[in-house]
Amino acid sequence: MALNRRDILKFPFLAMAATTIDAKNERDRKKPYSPIPLLQKLEKPLMPPITKPRIVIVGGGFGGLTVAKKLKIAYPDAEVIVLDKREIFMTGPMFNLMLGGIDRVRLDTIIHNRTIPAAKYGYRLIVTEVIDIDRRFKHVYTTKGIVDYTFLVLSPGIAYDYEKQFPHWDSEKITLARTISPAGLIPGEEFLTLLHNLHLVKEGNIIVTVPMGKYRCPPAPYERACMFANYIRKHRLKAKVIVIDSYSEPVSKTPAFKEAFHEVYPDIIEYYGDSIVTDVDYDNKVIHFDYWGPGSGDDGTSMKKSFSLLNLIPNNKANPVIEMANIKTLAWGSAVLKAPTYQSVTDEDIYVVGDCVGYSVFPESGQMANSMGTICAKHIALRLQNRKFDPTKDMPGNICISMIQSEPDRAISESHAITYKNGKWEVEGYIPFDKSTKQYRSPLIAQTLFDWYDGIMEDILG
Ligand SMILES: Cc1cc2nc3c(=O)[nH]c(=O)nc-3n(C[C@H](O)[C@H](O)[C@H](O)COP(=O)(O)OP(=O)(O)OC[C@H]3O[C@@H](n4cnc5c(N)ncnc54)[C@H](O)[C@@H]3O)c2cc1C
Repeated sequence: MALNRRDILKFPFLAMAATTIDAKNERDRKKPYSPIPLLQKLEKPLMPPITKPRIVIVGGGFGGLTVAKKLKIAYPDAEVIVLDKREIFMTGPMFNLMLGGIDRVRLDTIIHNRTIPAAKYGYRLIVTEVIDIDRRFKHVYTTKGIVDYTFLVLSPGIAYDYEKQFPHWDSEKITLARTISPAGLIPGEEFLTLLHNLHLVKEGNIIVTVPMGKYRCPPAPYERACMFANYIRKHRLKAKVIVIDSYSEPVSKTPAFKEAFHEVYPDIIEYYGDSIVTDVDYDNKVIHFDYWGPGSGDDGTSMKKSFSLLNLIPNNKANPVIEMANIKTLAWGSAVLKAPTYQSVTDEDIYVVGDCVGYSVFPESGQMANSMGTICAKHIALRLQNRKFDPTKDMPGNICISMIQSEPDRAISESHAITYKNGKWEVEGYIPFDKSTKQYRSPLIAQTLFDWYDGIMEDILG
């Protein structure tokens, strides 16, 4: 039976198992309010006093912009303010396709103008960096001044944890790593640097590392490996892609990525599972790692590889804005929620959506952030009208499509249905397989990727 759109979008089975952080790791730091020491906080108000319910949203990305638009639609009388440190909204989705040299994806595909939906729906967008939060007085401190709130929504995304992964590196070496081998999981300069570095490659190894634990968009490093390989093939470069993975096998869409590595790129992609990056010699362009996979022996094998381009993706953590709010967090730094709502267990006037919802069953994806943002906006709008919200009726869902190759276009997909049963979040995943071609990759899924992207951008910004 061939695949159809319905197959692609349905949600059974389990996935994301390797990204577990248990609730037992939860910690309540109960630290006193502590200002950011290095930045001088501006004590002057940035906004006039509150005259109607003011919802302040930190982060104008997938989660934050969804909340802003949908809240203004559901409750136009709310004053909605989005704070973001960046001028533009650049998306992670589709960026890997740019690396792959896929013609229909250009820089202006992934860059969007947030001022258009802000004007259309009547929310305010302020470009400023949030540097602290004081829940006692409901103050958000920004580099431009204080913004007071009635309810606060946090969707600030992720940060990198080089310090934890490489305790022997000083700040200079970390800066070198960020500059020379950017992770490319946070849109902006990192994307441009990666693209630039790729275009300089004529031969040699392009290396992608996969971090330990939870990280943003689990399929992204594997999709990127395929897109680097697509670029190498397209430009007939004498180059290889080496994946150095801390997991034993691709942690997302496992059989489908294995199929791509073995069947589409057997001559280009070299895969090392169970491998831990130990150091990088930037002078000599060599990466060192311990390999613990098959044939490595009891003590593992120390290996090194030279590189022409290194995409070093370090361990991730929740964005420090969550810590600023001084709410209860999981070990990853993400918020502990009053499940199944997106309210913090510590403070019901603070909501958290997007990648900073760090439960193991929640894939860190734009689709999930959009889904959670939609539910969060509904909850806040009902609360403002003193109406009851039944959180069990609205569950988030995810579909995630990864491009494998172009000309002919092929992509793979996985979807996740999230449920809340007996006081626990649960997830079922489904990876479509085309029985007629006996392949996971398919042209229909590739087309669905472009449709999905247009659809989600329309939902957030249109
Ligand atoms: C290469 C790549 C490919 C991806 N592919 C897919 C895909 O195919 N499908 C999919 O669903 N997802 C994909 N994702 C994942 C998706 O981009 C994220 O999961 C999603 O962006 C999370 O939304 P968010 O709202 O939590 O964070 P973001 O969208 O990152 O938004 C966070 C915002 O907060 C702002 N911010 C951070 N700190 C501060 C501060 N202190 N003050 C003010 N503003 C601040 C940031 O500037 C940013 O705009 C991909 C990601 C990458 C990197």
